[in-house]
Amino acid sequence: MNKSYDAVVIGAGVFGAWTALHLRNSGRSVALLDAYGAANSRASSGGETRILRMGYGSDEIYTRWAMRSLELWIALFDRVKRPELFQNVGVLWTPTPGHPREVSTLAAFDNCGVAHRRLTSSDLARCYPQLRFREERVGILETHAGVLLARRAVRAVVEEAVAKGVEYSLDAVLPVAGAHAKSPEVKTSCGDALSAGLAVYCCGPWLPKVFPEVLGGRVRATRQEIFFFGTPAGDRSFTAPNMPAWTDITDEHSAYTIPDVESRGFKLAFDKHGPEFDPDTGDRLARGLADARTFMAERFPALATAPLVESRVCQYENTSTGDFLIDRHPDFGNVWLVGGGSGHGFKHGPAVGEHACALIDGRVTAEPRFSLESKAREQNRSVF
Ligand SMILES: Cc1cc2nc3c(=O)[nH]c(=O)nc-3n(C[C@H](O)[C@H](O)[C@H](O)COP(=O)(O)OP(=O)(O)OC[C@H]3O[C@@H](n4cnc5c(N)ncnc54)[C@H](O)[C@@H]3O)c2cc1C
Repeated sequence: MNKSYDAVVIGAGVFGAWTALHLRNSGRSVALLDAYGAANSRASSGGETRILRMGYGSDEIYTRWAMRSLELWIALFDRVKRPELFQNVGVLWTPTPGHPREVSTLAAFDNCGVAHRRLTSSDLARCYPQLRFREERVGILETHAGVLLARRAVRAVVEEAVAKGVEYSLDAVLPVAGAHAKSPEVKTSCGDALSAGLAVYCCGPWLPKVFPEVLGGRVRATRQEIFFFGTPAGDRSFTAPNMPAWTDITDEHSAYTIPDVESRGFKLAFDKHGPEFDPDTGDRLARGLADARTFMAERFPALATAPLVESRVCQYENTSTGDFLIDRHPDFGNVWLVGGGSGHGFKHGPAVGEHACALIDGRVTAEPRFSLESKAREQNRSVF
């Protein structure tokens, strides 16, 4: 079947869903396709929860985008009457005193007006006795931050987009080969050919499969494991408000936890990049439980022997620095590439879609950090 739209968006993860919604709001007819379904189990957006924090050290662009995104998420959840999709549990940072990340984060918070509280080491010990540190730590609590119920939040965006007229379907777009072809056709596995003034590829970790020549090695999928531990019966110390989301960036490791939201267990993950991973066929059985237990015993002694109640394997879609990719395809003027969430993109979905749409319309100038040109094939991560 041949169909025609002003815009086709390929991929209904958080970036594609918001991009489709913004394009529709700009008055275009829009089709949104996903090979496995919106926020499916293989997608990077398919997890239960994602942290929304404003702290990015000195990378203020992400602080501002997180603030803007929070506004847009909350407005959406209000419109669809599902305020629970954002849980304002707060986000706690616990750097060593004077750590460069503490200094730059506080400076960015002051510049951008991010609501936060500073905690001394004795405040930390008093407010969060669940946490144990070997060395002195201080706290920064982002009071307006929290946790998005990720998979359901994406589905809410898609539902709103569909209600506004976006045509959503389950269909896989075939890889775009031939860098020198004159015009890209959006051909699907069902045999459809879609013509559109504009095609926006938001395929997350699949982007290098769809554009092997342009994106091979520039967006790398890595295997990431997540563990959910069961808390003791009747124990409230691992749920909000007693426990916020917590991120522990140290020189040795970076780990983060999410309190027991909706009684799914206390979530732990490490932010270190895992081995390369195939999002279609990669096996999704977590193997790092021993390391997770060692970490829990050290930081959360009360959960040292807590049962594992669930685990997941997901993938990051990393660019060389961790900066997003939002740019035009080098060979096709009407094809755009949006991805490279690099383990921190979920929260920014609303701002990414808004920026992509404004860029396409020529209403903003391109941000050099998000250009294709800036994406090297060697990893040199700088955004955390
Ligand atoms: C373990 C883990 C923890 C994370 N924690 C956080 C966090 O706490 N906070 C945060 O902000 N971010 C976090 N992130 C990052 C965030 O989840 C991702 O950056 C974000 O979800 C990426 O969204 P996306 O839309 O680009 O990709 P995806 O969600 O992967 O969506 C891409 C979609 O494209 C579809 N697709 C692919 N190829 C085709 C094709 N050929 N045809 C049609 N459809 C296709 C796929 O089916 C998929 O649905 C985390 C990621 C992981 C893995």
